[in-house]
Amino acid sequence: MPNGNVALTDTGARYLVPSEDCGVIMWGDEFHERIKNGETGEECILCGRKAGKGSKTLGVVVSGGGGIIIHADDAELEQGDPAFMGWYPVGSSCISAIPRGFRVDNPRADA
Ligand SMILES: [Zn+2]
Repeated sequence: MPNGNVALTDTGARYLVPSEDCGVIMWGDEFHERIKNGETGEECILCGRKAGKGSKTLGVVVSGGGGIIIHADDAELEQGDPAFMGWYPVGSSCISAIPRGFRVDNPRADA
């Protein structure tokens, strides 16, 4: 079961804590190994592979200074928090590890 523990932030937003147990490690060793020749911001934050920048790229909303993933419907609640970081891409091979409610369309897609 890929779902990790879901809890509530101080703002009432549902969040998921990435962990090895749920197969979700953000900005971990694998990421850093792949981006050591340069980061463009389009890399999957789980594995460091290019995730693309188009409208089909999915991702997650990150808060807690990079420690937690916010539910797609609760991002607005969390936006005022100083530790809110916004949307980051997750590639097609990694997105299956993210519970459906936490997958968010690319808000930066050109068209
Ligand atoms: Zn990935």
